[in-house]
Amino acid sequence: MSKAILFDASKCTGCRACQVACKSWNERTYTHTWCEGTYENPLELTSQCWMRILFNEPEEVKSWDELWWHFTKYQCMHCTEATCVKVCPSGATAKHKVSADDKEAYVIMTDPDKCIGCNYCVATCPFSACRYDAKEKGIYRCRLCFDRITQPPEAFQQGKMHKPLSDFEKLLEQNEAWLRNKPACVSTCTSGALSFGERDQMVAKAEERARALGGKARVYGKDELGGLHYIYVLEDEPETYGLPADPKVPAGVTLWEALIKPGAPWGGIGLIGLAAAAGLSYVIARRNQGLEGKEG
Ligand code: SF4
Ligand code: SF4
Ligand code: SF4
Repeated sequence: MSKAILFDASKCTGCRACQVACKSWNERTYTHTWCEGTYENPLELTSQCWMRILFNEPEEVKSWDELWWHFTKYQCMHCTEATCVKVCPSGATAKHKVSADDKEAYVIMTDPDKCIGCNYCVATCPFSACRYDAKEKGIYRCRLCFDRITQPPEAFQQGKMHKPLSDFEKLLEQNEAWLRNKPACVSTCTSGALSFGERDQMVAKAEERARALGGKARVYGKDELGGLHYIYVLEDEPETYGLPADPKVPAGVTLWEALIKPGAPWGGIGLIGLAAAAGLSYVIARRNQGLEGKEG
């Protein structure tokens, strides 16, 4: 079994408590941010901000009646078909099991000691969900709170957590059992929009909720990229939540994995291999242009 976080967009109020909890638990620092006609802050994921709430709005509004906000929790999706793992030439980015009885590994993390800073994972991620920090020389993305969910409930009571947080311990003194073993964002959600548990159960809960909402409501993440470990309940098309309707592993990446990557099964380079390298370079160049455009 694998676990997943469920984000029910129909319940999210955009309060961003999850964003703050993520920064707090992962000991991220403040950064200079600015206002650009949106309530989103910061405007991009960074090494200091691994998840953020998107405030999606209609492009054009002629009257107040036409105004809506679609809030989206945006971070690494822990994809089953993880482009970042496929493309990593040094093996630094890999899938990890949460417990010994897990059938599959699914939490994506990057080992800073193995990372060579090539940025291939950043450039090819279908969700643009990981970031490289040249100063800290590391890749940063949501870790599904690996250090929390791998701890037994007793660890919280006995103060054996990796990183004791004084305010968190105060809450535990009140014997709030629901706080234990959950990712920080889920523990903090103010509206019940976030849940955490066995992936199958999260999918079933999402499907039931989508049925109850009716209309255009749907589940996102069940099958995309082999299944994401973030499941979404959306009330409209994915694009209106800033999510790609049909995320795909770029074609150049598949060829790169099979032909060029160190240890590739068809490791003889030749003309086909060179074509694969060119394909990956093209994907990366296109993505870099996109990222520069956004920053600009
Ligand atoms: S969202 Fe991007 S960084 Fe996260 S697992 Fe998928 S490909 Fe990797
Ligand atoms: S699971 Fe943990 S690391 Fe990921 S967004 Fe939530 S708080 Fe942040
Ligand atoms: S804490 Fe919950 S309600 Fe608030 S922004 Fe995050 S997901 Fe939405």
